[in-house]
Amino acid sequence: MTTAIAAPVSVRNRIGGELLPSAAGATFEVRNPAVAKEVTAIAPDSEPADVEAAVAAAEGALAGWAATAPPVRAAFLNKAAAILDQQVDGIAREMVAEMGKSLGDARNEVKRTADNFRLYAGEALRLQGTTFATDDPTVSVLTMIDPIGVVGVITPWNFPLSLASRKIGPALAAGNTVVFKPSSMTPLMGERLAGALETAGLPGGVVNVVHGFGAGSLVVADERVRAITFTGSTAVGRKIHAALGLGRRAQLELGGNNPVVVLNDAVPEKAASVIVRSSFALSGQACTGAGRVIIEESIHDAVIELVSEAAGKLRIGPGLGDGVDMGPLIDERAVDRMESVVTSALEAGARLVSGGRRLVGEPFDDGWFFPPTILADVTPNMEISCTEVFGPVIGFERVTSIDEAIARANDTEYGLTAAICTTDLASAQRFARECEAGVVRINRPTIGTSLSAPFGGIKMSGTGTHKEQLGPTVMDFYTQQRTVFMGS
Ligand code: NAD
Repeated sequence: MTTAIAAPVSVRNRIGGELLPSAAGATFEVRNPAVAKEVTAIAPDSEPADVEAAVAAAEGALAGWAATAPPVRAAFLNKAAAILDQQVDGIAREMVAEMGKSLGDARNEVKRTADNFRLYAGEALRLQGTTFATDDPTVSVLTMIDPIGVVGVITPWNFPLSLASRKIGPALAAGNTVVFKPSSMTPLMGERLAGALETAGLPGGVVNVVHGFGAGSLVVADERVRAITFTGSTAVGRKIHAALGLGRRAQLELGGNNPVVVLNDAVPEKAASVIVRSSFALSGQACTGAGRVIIEESIHDAVIELVSEAAGKLRIGPGLGDGVDMGPLIDERAVDRMESVVTSALEAGARLVSGGRRLVGEPFDDGWFFPPTILADVTPNMEISCTEVFGPVIGFERVTSIDEAIARANDTEYGLTAAICTTDLASAQRFARECEAGVVRINRPTIGTSLSAPFGGIKMSGTGTHKEQLGPTVMDFYTQQRTVFMGS
């Protein structure tokens, strides 16, 4: 079975509690990455009037939602979480049809989304100010915590539910209202998330959803939107940062070019399993996925052989297939990009160990499938080393020391995640101290997040100052603080 959707789902914008087409009636189609002839969803291609109406609705709902008691806000989030829990399988199957990941990964994402809503429901109850020492005993000095206003939420397609819940959850918990622009690859998942909140009874206008290719920049351009929380590519993040200017906040979680460093003392089998998971999970389409293996000479051949063997056993196919490890890529452009990254590496002197060309034959002809691909003899100047690949292609670069390995790992404008495989504690500690990445993993794959630990990149992988899931300071981005001197 390759699909869960009998007919395309018609998705609408959600504005002020109403489901609406775009003002001009324009639409766009989303195709199933495993069966490209199949249309999964048809969504409105919004224009300025639609975004204007969504922001106005969010602004109109703000006073009421900000005045809603935190335990009541928390109850809405908890109820939406329970609704998602009841719909795990149905939503997961639609997610597979819309963006291609395997059913197991999709189910986990729906569950994580519900967990995120519960996490932020708790944060609504923990919002707190502080009192300060003062030299005047007749005055109390304290901080008050307020929502910031209308928050724009702009998300990518690769985790279409959970990333949005990590933004909408804390925004609502703090008393903000939201204009949500899901990826134009995944409007249906955007609708399912907003739908769960509406079914939970969230008042109209508190979360508004606008779809379409130009909608994101229109949300950013509207000065009534006081903060933008964005996850996506560094290129788009740059544009958003420039457009916001002074006085409006940006939380930007961006792309990566993540390395796995393997030292001579690593256990080859362990290193191979770390690499396979880092590079090929989610078909390489995770922001935390690794495109680079930086490896010491004497362990190189053993590890590349083990990785190649393990990659050969990965089951590739439509995400609903039994035991599928790797689904399709998101679209034709992604497949073209993988082929071009491989070609340019080979032209520059790399050696192809396995994969390298789009998959053909049954069931691959209908969709956008690319195999796990391993390149050896990669050097730092090649495209695969310098850019985010965002697909199942990995390049092995040889080094002769830990100094060289760390220098190579850091030789990128990005700084999202980085892993090291070693049995030497001193090397692990040194890597943790010196590697320039927001998330460092020792003998663990570059991918994966914890529910509540700080997550986000440094350098060009994120704004850094406003990471997501920031432990005790997670709500800072979504709140503003005022200092009050209270005399009598
Ligand atoms: P993208 O940057 O192309 O799009 C992200 C979102 O921005 C989409 O909703 C898109 O419609 C919107 N958008 C496009 N142009 C815009 C503009 N000018 N103004 C405002 N919004 C605009 O990214 P994508 O292809 O959807 O996702 C893949 C990228 O996301 C990769 O680079 C990946 O590394 C990154 N990503 C990062 C993280 C993280 O946590 N750091 C997580 C997931 C994905």
